[in-house]
Amino acid sequence: MSQTNFTSEFSKKSSNVILKDITKIFQQPDTGKDFVAVNHINLEIKDGEMVTLLGPSGCGKTTTLRMVSGFEYPTSGSVLIGGRDVAKVPPNKRGISMVFQSYALFPHMNVWDNVAYGLDVAKVSKEEMIRRTEKVMDMMQLKGMERRFPNQLSGGQQQRVALARAVVIEPSVLLFDEPLSNLDAKLRESMRDDLRALQQRLGITSLYVTHDQSEAMAISDRVVIMKDGNIVQQGTPSEIYEQPVNRFVANFIGKANFIEGVYKGREGTSAVVEIGDDKFVIPKPGVMPDVEAGSSCCLTIRPESIHLSKENGPLMGTIKRATYYGTKIEYEVELHDQSVIVEVYNPQLTERFQTGEKVSLNLIEQCVRVLK
Ligand code: ADP
Ligand code: MG
Repeated sequence: MSQTNFTSEFSKKSSNVILKDITKIFQQPDTGKDFVAVNHINLEIKDGEMVTLLGPSGCGKTTTLRMVSGFEYPTSGSVLIGGRDVAKVPPNKRGISMVFQSYALFPHMNVWDNVAYGLDVAKVSKEEMIRRTEKVMDMMQLKGMERRFPNQLSGGQQQRVALARAVVIEPSVLLFDEPLSNLDAKLRESMRDDLRALQQRLGITSLYVTHDQSEAMAISDRVVIMKDGNIVQQGTPSEIYEQPVNRFVANFIGKANFIEGVYKGREGTSAVVEIGDDKFVIPKPGVMPDVEAGSSCCLTIRPESIHLSKENGPLMGTIKRATYYGTKIEYEVELHDQSVIVEVYNPQLTERFQTGEKVSLNLIEQCVRVLK
């Protein structure tokens, strides 16, 4: 996307969004029973911030987004945009723009008319419409495509038109619902970087929905993990990855190993965990929600934070599988009855292990968290 500076004109309009104790209950058409799709959610998206709702299919992401847009109405709770309760404000008066997975372009209109559409509806003057449409076409690298129709564009180009159409009206909030899910992997990565750069340059408050964890990590100031209509955790990408509050979050963001043990108590600020007869002292165990002394717990550790060696150690396992990826080798190691995934980067420089070989698992202590 073009590097021209558009910031000043756009950022003035940006607003924060507050979801206050929002609940959405649907009546299931088949059974007639109530179904809680969104359950007492509280969330603030600060002015200019990009927040992502991340969670498995059906967890309530789209429903939450639609309550911000006004296309869905909360059963209880309120939505504030720029400090104003928007309960009585229809979607087209909320100062929002949406970008969808399906692009939702008008097939019978060319690129120019698709992009200018919102300005036409807003009845801006002809000169202003031309000026603003041209500027956004330039920014989104759509120059020269003005006369093409959507079916004459690639998926990536169509999504750039959809994005241009969304930002041309200078919304105070941008909403995205899985906008990159229809694109192939390589294009998805480059579009997500472009999208993030654009959002930062324009400083538009944005709420983004995806089920793709790497997309969420790459694009967001803050990630909100949802499950069954609830917010399970929110934080910066590194907070979520490094300090997951439970096994669901640890597993949903990246890969995680859970090595079962018994929590014995504290030694200073460290946590002591026994696995079999061996004692592990964990210097940064995290906040350890619901972990009680004398009860079972697990050492949570990422595949890249375990070293393998042939020397004897307290955690001896057997290599079950070794998969070569070029950048890394992924080993599956059987430890007691559990399977532990270990990733070794730079395979050309590191010792390799064969299936059936006995190995010692050395946990990098600083990277271990203790969870229930
Ligand atoms: P997500 O976007 O996270 O995949 P949704 O917000 O679309 O999930 O849906 C959450 C849940 O609410 C799902 O179980 C879905 O079937 C249900 N749901 C969504 N819209 C309706 C509706 N209009 N009527 C009944 N149930 C709905
Ligand atoms: Mg959805």
